[in-house]
Amino acid sequence: MSGHPEAAARFVADDAKAHWHDQSLWWVRKKRDAAAATVPDWEALRSAAARIKEHTLGRLADYLEEFEKNAVRSGAKVWFASDAAEHNAIVHRILAERGITRLVKSKSMLTEECHLNPYLEARGITVTDTDLGERIVQLRHEPPSHIVLPAIHLKKEEIGELFHGELGTDKGASDPKYLTEAARQHLRRRFLEAGAGLTGVNFAVAATGGIVVCTNEGNADMGTALPPVHIACMGVEKLVPRLEELAVFVRLLARSATGQPVTTYTTHFHGPRPDGELHIVVVDNGRSAQLANDTFRRSLSCIRCGACMNTCPVFRRSGGYSYGFVVPGPIGSVLAPGRDVGAHRTLPFASSLCGSCSDVCPVRIDLHHEILAWRQEIVRRKLVPVWKRAAMRLLAFILRFAFLYRLGAWLVRRMTPILPRAIVYSRWNVWGRQRELPPMPRRSFRALYRSRHGRA
Ligand code: SF4
Repeated sequence: MSGHPEAAARFVADDAKAHWHDQSLWWVRKKRDAAAATVPDWEALRSAAARIKEHTLGRLADYLEEFEKNAVRSGAKVWFASDAAEHNAIVHRILAERGITRLVKSKSMLTEECHLNPYLEARGITVTDTDLGERIVQLRHEPPSHIVLPAIHLKKEEIGELFHGELGTDKGASDPKYLTEAARQHLRRRFLEAGAGLTGVNFAVAATGGIVVCTNEGNADMGTALPPVHIACMGVEKLVPRLEELAVFVRLLARSATGQPVTTYTTHFHGPRPDGELHIVVVDNGRSAQLANDTFRRSLSCIRCGACMNTCPVFRRSGGYSYGFVVPGPIGSVLAPGRDVGAHRTLPFASSLCGSCSDVCPVRIDLHHEILAWRQEIVRRKLVPVWKRAAMRLLAFILRFAFLYRLGAWLVRRMTPILPRAIVYSRWNVWGRQRELPPMPRRSFRALYRSRHGRA
């Protein structure tokens, strides 16, 4: 089965694009740093967010009950789904009972996780993703490659070509303003035709029964203001106790995600609009099991800001698709094995364990520790290749004795210059293959060795 290394190798085969991807995300990371620096109590905010999440997750059942009671009181209908299949069936039932065949949808990683779009489309419902990045990848029949920047892997020229074919824009046009305007006109029709709007939920407030949706394009607001039915899908972990706690997360989210002080639209929904319906679908889909696991429960605190992806040297250089999971990057490397450790066993190794992800995480998830814990678990379950286990055992043995370590280092120093070039630059050199080796020396290794060791 193809894992992260093989998919990453395909991504880096286009060297120029891989560098461009790396630089684009690093630019976002720098914006995040600048935004964080404007908040004097930034580190205290992160600590407060971590404590609030820990507290809320510790009393999740109570807060869920409180949230449901208050949401129902405000006129919403609350549904509970134990897994993706149940979630999809609930959404379909709401639409089918009302004869709705057109749905507009704002960004929701939960619906990606549940594969809602293909489920509905197979049942005759047209789903239009209305976030610009999501619409771009939808038109390409691809999933998002990043949780906040779904089309970050595409250059504007590629989008211009796509829009020329799909939306009839001028051939060769790649001006972002022109393309965005074309997308607006195209989406406007979809908004007007839709019978229902579906949104994700960034936060749900137990004390008020309200939900909060954060976007930059206003598409969630259009999608809920025009059609009469609003379906909001949320994971159980989206709860916060009160509005006071919500304020902490609102200050952290946009700064961590894109370096903005706040998302352009932060919309609070308390009950349906007049003459409308609001359905809130609360989904578990493996979250309770994660909560019960002491080692990995902190990763449930994730607010899906994407900061860990933007900073991760592996994500930036290998692209979101190399992870093969709905949430990529460091947090994906923790979440995916929790769903299916066999299928995603390579992901925890897609990390330098530099800890940069943990350093930027607004809710202080100890990501690199959790990634390391998964590696240990994967080794314990014997899911790594035999040759790798044998090599690790040998290394562990060597590291136990200082003299063996020194001997090994001495051997490496002496041997490297005389290793046949066929090995150093071949595909068998797994270590070197994935690094930027110095250019192939013009002189033979034999001559190099002789000159280094003072032999004529
Ligand atoms: S793990 Fe932290 S940094 Fe990564 S997406 Fe979640 S909240 Fe953001």
